[in-house]
Order: sequence, then C-alpha cells, then structure tokens
Amino acid sequence: MACSLGMDPNLEGKKILLLEAGNKKVMDKVPDTYSTRVSSISPGSASFLTGIGAWDHITQMRCKPYKKMQVWDACSDALITFDKDNLEDEMAYIVENDIAVAALTKQLDSLSDNVRVQYRSKVVKYAWPMPHQAADSIPWVKVTLASGETVQTKLLIGADGPNSMVRRALGIPTVKWNYDQSAVVAVLNLSEPTENNVAWQRFLPTGPIAMLPLSDTESSLVWSTSHRLAEELLELDEESFVDAINSAFWSNENQSELIETAGSLFRSALSVLMPSAGSPRQLPPSVAGISPKSRVMFPLGIGHASEYIRHRVALIGDAAHRVHPLAGQGANLGFGDVACLTKLLSQAAFDGKDLGAIQHLLEYETECQRKNLPMMAAIDLMKRLYSTNAAPVVLLRTFGLQAANMIPTLKEQIMSFASK
Ligand SMILES: Cc1cc2nc3c(=O)[nH]c(=O)nc-3n(C[C@H](O)[C@H](O)[C@H](O)COP(=O)(O)OP(=O)(O)OC[C@H]3O[C@@H](n4cnc5c(N)ncnc54)[C@H](O)[C@@H]3O)c2cc1C
Repeated sequence: MACSLGMDPNLEGKKILLLEAGNKKVMDKVPDTYSTRVSSISPGSASFLTGIGAWDHITQMRCKPYKKMQVWDACSDALITFDKDNLEDEMAYIVENDIAVAALTKQLDSLSDNVRVQYRSKVVKYAWPMPHQAADSIPWVKVTLASGETVQTKLLIGADGPNSMVRRALGIPTVKWNYDQSAVVAVLNLSEPTENNVAWQRFLPTGPIAMLPLSDTESSLVWSTSHRLAEELLELDEESFVDAINSAFWSNENQSELIETAGSLFRSALSVLMPSAGSPRQLPPSVAGISPKSRVMFPLGIGHASEYIRHRVALIGDAAHRVHPLAGQGANLGFGDVACLTKLLSQAAFDGKDLGAIQHLLEYETECQRKNLPMMAAIDLMKRLYSTNAAPVVLLRTFGLQAANMIPTLKEQIMSFASK
C-alpha cells in the first residue's frame, strides 16, 4: 500500500508513513533454500506489482510460474484442469512471501523522498476523530507507538492482518469463525527432476492438499486438515511424513464402487455430447523428502469486516477479510484492495479533496466488497462441499466437476474470476 501510494504521481508531496511492528527484511542474496511460506500470485496481482515496480525485483530474485492446475476429488474420479491457451501462458506464479516482502522493501527504499518506513514500531493505541468535528474531537487520527511516540494522520490505513487492532479498536463488527482445520506447510523434494509447471490440489474428506511448484526438483506443500491430524503430521519422522503425503495424493481408499460407476456413466454421457472436451488426468510427481525444519502449521479461519471504512480510516488485506488458502486468494484479494484504494485516493488528491473524507472511502468499500464477497462465498462453499464423504454430496460434486471440466467457456470464466 505504501509503495503503491508512493509511486502515484497525484500523491506526490503527500507524506506517507508505514509503521511496521517487525524488523526490516533485507535480502542481500537469495537464500539457497526455499522458504516455507509461499503465495500463488495471480496474473492480475503480478501486473499490479509490475505497476509499482516490485515485480521486476521478484523475478530477478526468485519465482516459479506454473502453466496448469489440476484439481481432483479423492472420493471419486472427478477432476478439473485449468490452463491458458494450451499451456502458452502462465496461470499464476508461486512466490515466497519473504521474496515478495524483500522486493517491496527494496522498492520502498527507492521511494524514500515521500515514503518513510519505521520498523520495530508497534502501535499500541488509537484515538479517533468524530465525523462532525464535535467541540472535543481531535481533527485527525492519533496513533501511539509502544515507544510513546505519537503520530497524527488525515487517513489511517489498517493493514495489520487478520487480528487487526485497528478493526478491533474501531469496534467494527466482523463475521468470523475458525475452521476445523489447520494448514501444514513444508518444502518438498521431488523424486526426480520434472518441468514442474503444474499446481496440484486434491480434495480429501479431511481437507485439500496442494503441491505448488518451486523449481524442477522442489515444491511447496499446503495440506489443510483436521487440527489433530495436522499435529500428528508435524510429529511424524521424515519418512512417514513423506509416505503420508504420497498416499494423500495417490491413494484411492476414499473411493466407493457406487460413486465410481455413477461418475463414469456420467462422464461417458458427457463425452458423447462433447467428444473433444475435457482433459486427461495427469499424475502428480512423487515426493522423496522434505527440506529440514520446513514443517509448520497454521490454524485456518474465515473473517469479514462488515465495514472496511470509518471516518479517516480504511481497512485493507486480511484486516478486512481472511479466507481459507484452498484457492490461494488471500494476498491476491489484498492487492486488489490496494489497487482500488490507490486509484480512489489518487483521484481525490487530483480533485484537491481531503484524503480522509468519507465519500471516496465509501466508494472503496463498495467496489472492494463487491469483488471480495463473491470470492469469499465461493471459497467457503468449496470448503464445505468437499469436507464430506457423504455419498449424495460426493455424487453431486462429482457430476458438477466433470461437467465443468467439459465446458471450456465455464472454465474460462472460473479462471478469469480467480486471476484478477
Ligand atoms: C497456509 C497459508 C497459505 C496461503 N497461501 C496463499 C496463496 O497461495 N495465495 C494468496 O494470495 N494468499 C495466500 N495466503 C494468504 C496470505 O498469506 C494472507 O492473505 C496475507 O499474508 C495477508 O497479508 P496482510 O498484509 O493483509 O496481513 P499480514 O501478512 O498478517 O501482515 C500484517 C502486518 O501488520 C503488522 N502489524 C500487526 N499489528 C501491528 C501493530 N499493532 N503495529 C504495527 N504493525 C503491526 C505485522 O507485523 C505484519 O507485518 C495463505 C495463507 C496461509 C495461512
């Protein structure tokens, strides 16, 4: 957000301050080993990052494009694949979070004329102005840091993550619940080098397991599963953990004859109607080992702030919305917020308006909620639809997935929805 505002010509001359509780993350040299936390960055986010000068730094450091995605059900033979123009174009990019932060930090360093970044600056208190300038109201938002220092601002942007203190201090109602799942993440070593340009995701009844390409020989694991199983997976020795991963991708233990027969009849009927549609099943690479100390787990949840704005305040990113990682959209939604808020603030500055005024903040809220809510609903529905092995639901989703795989225009629409 700070980078995006700092790059906008209409906002030149505005003072932008980024307060970050953590340390500065500089990366003089790209580490030899991959880091555990990665994000799938959509083409829309990549072009946004290009616009603010960070994407070049990312590609110079390290990122892995992928050209295809295969999603399949562990309870049936149903699958769907996505690719663009027969593997000509990239579907998305796997970027380590540390690399993304290092790239943005580098870019921020080059914007030091109008963006100041204060690291190790934890905000401990906020005081809010009243919208109608009551006699005892402060005019701007007042921020108090742990050091005792105070700062005042016409516009505070809360980008402080899913437990946002800004959101809580404002008392903004939030619809949220914890899922019955945690994500186990790790860096995987593949059995043999491959082109490794496919992102794989299989829906197990306990949650989705995804393998995202990092290099010819390494991939990133995001395995969402019950808290109990996640804890057990963390405790396993390396060999048993690797066996569990391979079995999660390959085993047919959750399939039943009834679903298999119904699914295959349905598929045959579809292929009579649409002989050239659909795509063949590919097998994921097998895993041989994991990078040392790369196994960690995160509890998963969903959350949505009913308001993204208040007088002189806007929420962005996970502070406003948190999603399940099954669609790899959390950070992408956040970049969408940043692009939208920058556009509206830029216009407000051009028109000589007060940046903290509610009018353009309301436009930001409406525009972003319109984009974010359908995506959040779709992700939550997927999570629910695939969290069961009850035969009627499995049948329904098997037919749905097989049909969707056969209809190219529908697949294109899903891809365009997910790639903004
Ligand atoms: C397992 C997993 C896999 C994921 N995979 C993907 C993916 O493939 N694609 C994708 O798009 N998304 C993915 N996500 C989601 C993505 O990681 C988040 O959406 C994203 O990190 C949110 O970014 P944010 O900047 O809003 O919040 P955060 O990353 O939480 O950052 C908040 C920042 O605010 C600072 N802060 C907090 N409080 C204070 C304070 N009081 N004072 C000063 N600073 C403060 C923190 O230090 C931190 O730097 C995944 C998430 C998980 C858990």
